[in-house]
Amino acid sequence: MFESLSDRLTRALTDLRGKGRLSDADIDRTAREIRLALLDADVSLPVVRGFISRVKERAKGAEVSGALNPAQQIVKIVNEELVDVLGGETRRISYAKTPPTVIMLAGLQGAGKTTLAGKLGAWLKKQGHTPLLVAADLQRPGAVSQLQIVGERAGVAVYAPHPGTSVGGEGELGVSAADPIDVARDGVAMAEDKQYDVVIVDTAGRLGVDAELMAQAAGIRDAVSPDEVLFVLDAMIGQDAVGTAEAFSQGVGITGVVLTKLDGDARGGAALSVRDITGVPIMFASSGEKLEDFDVFHPDRMASRILG
Ligand code: GDP
Repeated sequence: MFESLSDRLTRALTDLRGKGRLSDADIDRTAREIRLALLDADVSLPVVRGFISRVKERAKGAEVSGALNPAQQIVKIVNEELVDVLGGETRRISYAKTPPTVIMLAGLQGAGKTTLAGKLGAWLKKQGHTPLLVAADLQRPGAVSQLQIVGERAGVAVYAPHPGTSVGGEGELGVSAADPIDVARDGVAMAEDKQYDVVIVDTAGRLGVDAELMAQAAGIRDAVSPDEVLFVLDAMIGQDAVGTAEAFSQGVGITGVVLTKLDGDARGGAALSVRDITGVPIMFASSGEKLEDFDVFHPDRMASRILG
């Protein structure tokens, strides 16, 4: 994960080691190297610009403190700016005062929503919750049965349009008579009735952002008034994925991002850009296909990992 960025940042910063004082030229040179490392990592240009200008300003204005030598001071500044660009504090789920808490998943097809529904369900269960997964992706053939399989593996209940059967299953066209908005609403009603305390609503994704997808997602949002709308973002796509997050942010309104496929993301551009561009925090990260390849996203731990 982020190997090349990590190597290059570490190299740029170790070059400063042993220097008793840093001149403005030293700082400018280091800032240039950091800039190139971030651009090569596919971090979006406005994010890189802001990052570099803050690092330079802080490094040049830094008082020489007793505890840290100048090189350590710059490492500290870069670390703090990385934490900041990754979202600062860890952002936890905002649970509803009166259960159930409704979490809606949105994103492009293939981003990893259905897989995530299982992972999040299993994680919530471990935290002592009683989650229910709702299969409101009636677009992709097999999505309902996939959610049922994922739910079974995670030991989490699933509400599907016709319980026990697969609507739009393999071999069919994937067009269901059921309306995803009704399914989402009925799923939440069932959670209220049966006292599930968290509902995770899986929704349809397309290959690209389109008006119909956005309208359907907005319809589901209006029907179930989610406490969280999590945008599931395939980190391997890089900066382009950040553009889709921004479109969803404007079209549906999102409260958090879940990064998936971090295991395949060597560069880190999406991870480092998405918070700045959308203004919403990364809440969870997924780094593999297995249920347990999933955790709360901690900006400080990620920054330390990047800086090696
Ligand atoms: P959806 O269309 O958004 O519901 O996406 P799926 O949940 O069906 O996931 C698409 C593919 O990505 C599947 O083959 C998943 O196994 C895979 N996938 C999901 N999350 C991850 C992850 O974190 N890492 C890797 N390597 N693969 C993942």
